[in-house]
Amino acid sequence: MINKVKGTYDVLPNESKIWQYLENYIKKLYESYNYNEIRTPIFEYSNLFHRDSEGSDMVTKETYNFKDKGNRDLTLRPEGTAGVIRSYVENKLYATNQLAKLFYIGPNFRYERPQKGRFRQFMQFGVEVIGSSDYLIDVENIYLAYQTVKGLKLKEFQLVINNLGDKVSKENYQKALFEYLNPFKDKLSPDSKERLIKNPLRILDSKSKEDQEILKDAPSINDYLSDESKNNFNKIKDVLEKLKVDFKVDDKLVRGLDYYSDTVFEIISTNKNFGSQTALVGGGRYNNLVKEVGGPDLSGMGFAFGMERLIEAIHLENIKLFEEPTIDAYFIHFNEVTKKEAFIIQANLRDEGFSSDLNYLNSSFKAQLKEGLRLNTRFLLILGEDELKVNQITIKDTKTSSQKTINKDEITSYLRGEKHV
Ligand code: AMP
Repeated sequence: MINKVKGTYDVLPNESKIWQYLENYIKKLYESYNYNEIRTPIFEYSNLFHRDSEGSDMVTKETYNFKDKGNRDLTLRPEGTAGVIRSYVENKLYATNQLAKLFYIGPNFRYERPQKGRFRQFMQFGVEVIGSSDYLIDVENIYLAYQTVKGLKLKEFQLVINNLGDKVSKENYQKALFEYLNPFKDKLSPDSKERLIKNPLRILDSKSKEDQEILKDAPSINDYLSDESKNNFNKIKDVLEKLKVDFKVDDKLVRGLDYYSDTVFEIISTNKNFGSQTALVGGGRYNNLVKEVGGPDLSGMGFAFGMERLIEAIHLENIKLFEEPTIDAYFIHFNEVTKKEAFIIQANLRDEGFSSDLNYLNSSFKAQLKEGLRLNTRFLLILGEDELKVNQITIKDTKTSSQKTINKDEITSYLRGEKHV
């Protein structure tokens, strides 16, 4: 037997309904905010992700890199934003859309240690708004992520926001943090020791107890923010409050990627059975990415949800998003003659837009009945040979338990009439 690749999973037929439901839900919700879908390739030239300025673990250690037969360096995308920005720049979307509001749904790949809520192939959906740094775009983004979760009737979550400051504030803070942490260098966890040189900000979201202890007296980003940056963040918080969004400010929230500045946010699950990977969605503003990828100097803001984690949260809160699927008709037959006739009637019913199935295994009457009920069938269509000879068929309405024998030609009009009762 050949097994699935470590860190991957199959979506089996009994689970695919929730994926389909979510994909439709996202499309409808995001389109109502005037975001349009963009679909980019799952692999890109490696240098799109491996930029000098990007030193995050995700990009430096976790990407799937390979050479194709033409000796090109390619990378399976570890996240959605870089590819969307590449496409935005390459297709000059800025020439036609002063403000591009895009959403995407698709798989990403990271060579991480698999655990609950963490896979090597996982589905993300998210948005990018490119072309303005207006504070209301930040609010719209955060609000849309918040509504995505609320609209699914989830209750056990917390929205957390932070302001990393503009470029200068961030750099000054980074310097101060380094100076504070450097004397503790030998006491930091191995990961954080490495981060101290590369990006001391990342130490702030370390889960290690020793690191957390050291961080207790660390300087706060709040002391390094320019007045303009503080002002901007205050305006964002003010509108969120007016919209009655329940949020918390956490000055240690930094997010995994190095390209973020100004506003960052996460929605984390607060369900106690969720496991250690609690972020349902993460996002923030990026000011240099579009330029770095070769485009104009434009600011962007976006977020990405992990679909597996969202589904896990829905399961843990026992939320029922939709009724179990049903089919309109299930045919019960008794021999080769009635089976063939059932097949022909069924083709006609399907052409008319009804959903239907029949038994191909020549099962017993009882087994066919059981299968029909298991499929949540509304009408059982029973084809007895004697009845068929006089063009008749028996219909059992599983909703009302009533049974009727009608003429074969009346099936569609009968079903149509009864279905809406
Ligand atoms: P990131 O792109 O790292 O900012 O992550 C955004 C969201 O994607 C997270 O909040 C998770 O919900 C999801 N995510 C990131 N990495 C993984 C992974 N390896 N497996 C499953 N979901 C992930």
